[in-house]
Amino acid sequence: MAIYLDNAAAMRARAEALAAAMPYMAEQYGNPSSLHTPGLTAKKAIQKAREDIATCLWCKPNELVFTSGGTESINLGIKGFFEANRSRGKHIITTNIEHHAVSESLAWLRTLGADITVLPVNGEGLITVEQIVRAIRPDTVLIAVQYANNEIGSIQPIAEIAGVAKGKGIALFVDAVQAVGHVPFALGSAEGAGKLPQGTTSQDFLGITMLAASAHKFGGPKGTGFLFVREGTKLAPQMHGGPQEMRLRAGTENVPGIVGMAAAIISSCRELREDSRKMRALRDNMIDRILETIPDSRVNGTRTNRLPGNVSISFAGVEAASVLVLMDMAGIACSGGSACTSASGTVSHVIQAIHMPEEYENGTIRMTLSPDTTRAEVDAAIAALTEIVAKLRAGRQ
Ligand code: PLP
Repeated sequence: MAIYLDNAAAMRARAEALAAAMPYMAEQYGNPSSLHTPGLTAKKAIQKAREDIATCLWCKPNELVFTSGGTESINLGIKGFFEANRSRGKHIITTNIEHHAVSESLAWLRTLGADITVLPVNGEGLITVEQIVRAIRPDTVLIAVQYANNEIGSIQPIAEIAGVAKGKGIALFVDAVQAVGHVPFALGSAEGAGKLPQGTTSQDFLGITMLAASAHKFGGPKGTGFLFVREGTKLAPQMHGGPQEMRLRAGTENVPGIVGMAAAIISSCRELREDSRKMRALRDNMIDRILETIPDSRVNGTRTNRLPGNVSISFAGVEAASVLVLMDMAGIACSGGSACTSASGTVSHVIQAIHMPEEYENGTIRMTLSPDTTRAEVDAAIAALTEIVAKLRAGRQ
């Protein structure tokens, strides 16, 4: 692979994740529900993974449900919560830039009688705590807000929203698929929690009731994720069958995936400060230089509160699909996010929500860095982009 700048879609598996996962396919392949020694070995590996992830997130091991990834965690959290708590109220608050896994789960709940308030973000892709407070009704049972946006990287004021939700006794669901492994979390329910990650207090996230994550976004295997469910939260399973995962998620556990995910999260938590410092510096440098060298370009999302690796840029008067094809031909993999579903030419709900000038709407591309991204790769991507945008604009004249 030449230059890979699509790490928000999938990141290279960390070496630790590969090394940890392999034995559970090749040697220790017992089914964790079996009562013989190979089965018990697999079961212990899952339990150890649960403890390791809980340590990284400062929660309790029994608050983690293993799933097949972000989408399943979101479906279980949102639909499972509504089903189990609907007698308490039917009103849910969300934003207009959630991932489709959230917005479609909520759309499904609407057919079952839920009343959904969708809050609009501002031009930087952010909502405010005041908007949440104003939207709360006596029958509000759930607030569903993403931690960070997958297209434009904006980070919502989750700690403050969590404080409000907790104060009002409303459950808060957070889609943290883009954030886990990239920003510090302290969910705060771990007993005897010692020293907390820098920049975080256990109070920050105490109001989060549920949090969804997906392993391949932080260097684990694809097809594995988890849902944090705060102790005492009632949830109805969405997958029916066996008694696995505390009866919340039936089906044989993905043992190699779970073990690999735990290794990936340990490694990303250990390296988090240094990795994010490095990525933020590269990201800011990349954004500044693109804005300087390519006329009529603009950055999407907030400059200050964005994911360390996210570079979302729009160019006036060019089609993102053409840029992406030419970048790929130049050996650089980046994405429109879901910003421009190239074939149909439609503009994503996120790009629509931030109301950018019309001439920029179809020209949005997303480049997402990883801890492995080098300055030389960034330089090469900027050079290619400058040439490609100029060429496409010249072709239109
Ligand atoms: N939520 C966000 C913010 C995402 O970026 C993604 C995937 O890109 C998902 C949810 C869905 O995760 P998965 O692909 O693991 O189902």
